[in-house]
Amino acid sequence: MGSVSNIKTFAPPADARGGDVEFEGTYRKGELRGIIKINQDNCTGCDTCSAFCPTDAIMGTLGVAHAIEDNSCVACGQCLINCPFGAIEQMSFVDEVIKKLDDPKSFVVAHPSPAVRVALAEEFGAEPGSVTINKMYNAFKKAGFHMYDVNFAADHTILEEGTEFIKKVKYWLLGERSKDLEHVSHHPFPHFTSCCPAWVRNAEIFHPELIPHISGAKSPIQMGGPIAKTWGAKFIWKVDPRDVFMVPITPCTAKIFEASRPEFNSAWKYLIKNNEIPSDTPSFPDIDVVLTARDIATLLKKKGINPLEMSDEYEDEVMNVYSGGGTIFGNSGGVMEAALRTSYFILSGMELKNPDLTPVRGYDKDLVEATIPVPLKDYDGKIIEIKVAVVNGASKNINKIAKELVSNQNKYHFIEVMNCPGGCVNGGGQPVRTMGTSWLHPLLPLPIRA
Ligand code: SF4
Ligand code: SF4
Ligand code: SF4
Repeated sequence: MGSVSNIKTFAPPADARGGDVEFEGTYRKGELRGIIKINQDNCTGCDTCSAFCPTDAIMGTLGVAHAIEDNSCVACGQCLINCPFGAIEQMSFVDEVIKKLDDPKSFVVAHPSPAVRVALAEEFGAEPGSVTINKMYNAFKKAGFHMYDVNFAADHTILEEGTEFIKKVKYWLLGERSKDLEHVSHHPFPHFTSCCPAWVRNAEIFHPELIPHISGAKSPIQMGGPIAKTWGAKFIWKVDPRDVFMVPITPCTAKIFEASRPEFNSAWKYLIKNNEIPSDTPSFPDIDVVLTARDIATLLKKKGINPLEMSDEYEDEVMNVYSGGGTIFGNSGGVMEAALRTSYFILSGMELKNPDLTPVRGYDKDLVEATIPVPLKDYDGKIIEIKVAVVNGASKNINKIAKELVSNQNKYHFIEVMNCPGGCVNGGGQPVRTMGTSWLHPLLPLPIRA
């Protein structure tokens, strides 16, 4: 049987988005801070969390209650899922979403990530994977959500990221020059993925020299928000975009932070520019709030809905159509694999004989390297070798790669970085059962510092 999480949550406090100043430490106005916090009353000072923190954001010595330094924290939740005592808590928007679901004017959209559909069953005491996709959709519908599967948006991320990578290949490896390629002249190899917000914040704070290398493609949920509030609202749901309330359901606590970043209001900008909403409409975000896998289980339980008991029949909807490429985003190497499939097809004019690019799958290794030969259809079949690396599980390898990058920019062309071990399947918002006992419990391993 699966296990049910006993992680505590808290509603965002009044000052969660900071004050009126533009910058406060590493936060801009409006950005959520303190998403993950240690409850001092429950912390034993065992120091286990420090070993899992990618940014050394946890303060405290052995035996003394620890605390998180928010300016260094990337909100990944790895400390939370590894604290043996459930002393670490997560900011949650469950009550706000329930209020929206009860408001007849709001059009509340569930936007579930690939890793959540596997994990949800655990929160209801069953084996991972036993809630099928259709059962999950039906549970969300019963709770009052409209559906838009994030895999559809992940396909957009792949197209965007793959196209950007191809442009870099043409400019930097093949020496092509055209107006269309001008902007990549400022963005050399290696190309880094951008869909993990913990990695992006980590780079912004600790490795700013890598910023020109990071893809400009948005993460899947940030692709999904503007699509929902423009095309989806207008052509599919036929509702006022200002009434759409977007709720990604993710394995990730860092996405709670990402949603609050001020630049992510593309739908509002587009709708104003195209006179689709009054010009004095105040700015609204592409993503309204994010729920974790644990949060959605709490919400369903509050509403008395058990996804395991739902029907397995669900009518196809255009917002839930997607490819296998979007689905594998949840695993380490998945983003790289999906983007390479697209790039290979466009550059060679052929489908990969075996689309399963197993050499790039990270799984339990924190660094994987591979070389992928690609024949070029526009260069008489000339073969180029794409050198890739997949990094997962915190930033230890990023420090190494950053140093190598300074000395040898040609070592890799494409680097995927996912903060969590094995990728989003082990994200900070996934099911977890802490021991809830004394730290002297005989089964508890001694804390190890990284
Ligand atoms: Fe405290 Fe939990 Fe960290 Fe141990 S792992 S120091 S109990 S917060
Ligand atoms: Fe460190 Fe992540 Fe915990 Fe923040 S949320 S303290 S970055 S492990
Ligand atoms: Fe979130 Fe996935 Fe990055 Fe973990 S690896 S921080 S779950 S996006």
